[in-house]
Amino acid sequence: MAAQAGRRHRGLSTMRDPRYDILFEPVKIGPVTAKNRFFQVPHCNGMGHAMPLAHAAMREMKAEGGWAVVSTEECEIHPSGDLTPYVEARLWDDRDIPALALMCDKVHAHGALAALELTHNGPTASNLYSREVLIAPSHQPTKYGYPHQARAMTKHDIREYRRWHREAAIRGRRAGMDIIYVYAAHDLSLAMHFLQRRRNQRSDEYGGSLENRVRLLREVLEDTKDAVGDTCAVALRFATEELLGPGGVERAEAREIVAMLAELPDLWDVNVAAWYNDSVPSRFAAEGAQEPFIDFVKQTTSKPVVGVGRFTSPDTMVSQLKRGVLDMIGCARPSIADPFLPRKVEQGRVDDIRECIGCNICVSGDMTISPIRCTQNPTMGEEWRKGWHPERIAPKRSAARVLVVGGGPAGLEAARALGQRGYEVSLAEARKELGGRVTREARLPGLAEWARVRDWRVGQIRKLANIAVYLDSVLTAQDVLDFGAEHVVIATGCHWRRDGYGRSHGAAIDGFVDGARIYTPDDLMDGHLPEGRVVVFDDDGFYHAGIAAEALRLRGCEVAYLTPEDSVAPWSQHTLDYRHIRKRMAKLGIEAIVSHDIVGYAGSTLVLENVWDHQRRALACDAVVTVTARLPDDALYQELLRRESDWPAAALQSLRCIGDAEAPGLIAHAVYAGHRYARELEEPAAVGVPFKRHFHIE
Ligand code: ADP
Ligand code: SF4
Repeated sequence: MAAQAGRRHRGLSTMRDPRYDILFEPVKIGPVTAKNRFFQVPHCNGMGHAMPLAHAAMREMKAEGGWAVVSTEECEIHPSGDLTPYVEARLWDDRDIPALALMCDKVHAHGALAALELTHNGPTASNLYSREVLIAPSHQPTKYGYPHQARAMTKHDIREYRRWHREAAIRGRRAGMDIIYVYAAHDLSLAMHFLQRRRNQRSDEYGGSLENRVRLLREVLEDTKDAVGDTCAVALRFATEELLGPGGVERAEAREIVAMLAELPDLWDVNVAAWYNDSVPSRFAAEGAQEPFIDFVKQTTSKPVVGVGRFTSPDTMVSQLKRGVLDMIGCARPSIADPFLPRKVEQGRVDDIRECIGCNICVSGDMTISPIRCTQNPTMGEEWRKGWHPERIAPKRSAARVLVVGGGPAGLEAARALGQRGYEVSLAEARKELGGRVTREARLPGLAEWARVRDWRVGQIRKLANIAVYLDSVLTAQDVLDFGAEHVVIATGCHWRRDGYGRSHGAAIDGFVDGARIYTPDDLMDGHLPEGRVVVFDDDGFYHAGIAAEALRLRGCEVAYLTPEDSVAPWSQHTLDYRHIRKRMAKLGIEAIVSHDIVGYAGSTLVLENVWDHQRRALACDAVVTVTARLPDDALYQELLRRESDWPAAALQSLRCIGDAEAPGLIAHAVYAGHRYARELEEPAAVGVPFKRHFHIE
């Protein structure tokens, strides 16, 4: 093996940097006081009312990690605002109180305040479960394409809606909530729908003029203050811009609304709508990107203002406070990636912060109706069902040595977490740099922040004297056996196929052979680039093909994006990337050809076939980038399996293959696999289902 990579040992500082003192000042919010300025704003998690124990344990981590306020996700107030299939919080009647009380108790145990985001989503609900008729300011289609409409609310409906909201606020207080939100953001609640001209075409006192369109929001704020305002703070979550022109809330009108309601809520939580403009992936928006849309609010109200911007840098946070943009630092994703972010700032451990990379895999949990997961934080969503803590891990069981082969996200996380357990760990990496696919992908346009997956782990590894890192070390099976570690984990990654096999093709594509001008994402990342007219063939459906197209276009190629799917990068809908990808492709002049497959490639002619009518056409192109499927680089693992008879002499007790070398997936899968390997090494194997589940029995 090559020389060990340089390692620095840094003592743990426990002194907070005085520059950050301002972040730890208490903030009075109506009748309650937040102990510092770190505010975990509401965020979905795919667990909600269906998995209350898992939900409460996840929120508890935030409180333990130092957030002064820990919020729920959206909380439905009535069956006529049912969000099925999405799993959010619910307060339809008293029987929903205990689930949220669980969260409040856990949040309070760490001295944090619990906040509840009440909502009735009107035409942006579904009622697929309740089968109630949807309601809206005026007759209109549903937002998400359900084949039923919402009916216009009568005055009676408006009174009922106000009553439901009031009763839910009271239930929230009974659950133990300290802050009750009125929600008028994300194009997701009636209080906002009444503001929007495109949704509110009423001619009574609730429609028309701005004063009329604001009436319901004002009434609900007043109702909530009246119902619970003596002991609970009443927050308003308000979207200042929808980027939709006059049909949506626009900044000019938002300024008037903020002025009209300035002192009514105890706290303003302000952002940009809809969700895809709020939680923008890092590929399309930098830290603090919302500032130009919300910076006017603090000048208009004396009440505290919280806002978001994927803040992970305490310096940026301090700047937001000192420049008078915000009073409290709102975080959803940064609190998911590192629930202990405030604690780390407080303890002078800023370089231990596991910074969010803005990949929005967390969003995909909610979108796919599954519990939240996070690329950076593999314990997210596993706090209750696996008992995983983001900062703590069981000590090692023995003096065994562990060899980790491969320094991508899986290998790095395995090595780091094994090192945290106290194992003697050696990490061998073939290349001259760590990070594997993360390092390579982070060089693609817009993905620079993804390198944080590597950087945090390398930073932690450097602090652990029991982890040795060997770069430039391509290990063979004999090297592994000679090394003599008791446990070996292979995390050697994968590579992209060149033959065109993928979802749409059970066999290679005609003409995708050696010597043809066929490129893969690996080629692009290795700097081996096509020129001229290039077709990027996407049979993968997520980000790789779009980024390849963008990268080549930026280098001057004429680029067409081609997919057998009916839409561009369909999975990117789940990460809120989709619209941004489409806009960027349009801006760069990348032609999108959908519903077409490739049937052959000869010379510089690609033969395409429409997947529906099977009409064929020829497309001239100088090269094809094929983004279809990947194959594990598991030759080392397979060879070691074949040599199992040599293991005893080499003292080898266990061999595992993890991450992309086992089955290619997301970076999140690789990090999770590495973490899981480290957690489970030498621990008793789970009997049966390897996690706890919720059971509902009445
Ligand atoms: P994952 O996403 O599963 O972590 P990556 O492809 O990101 O996978 O990382 C795998 C890493 O393993 C790469 O950096 C690669 O250079 C390294 N690697 C592959 N084969 C070997 C080997 N035989 N010895 C040491 N390192 C290897
Ligand atoms: Fe950030 Fe990605 Fe984790 Fe979401 S999944 S919190 S975007 S690192």
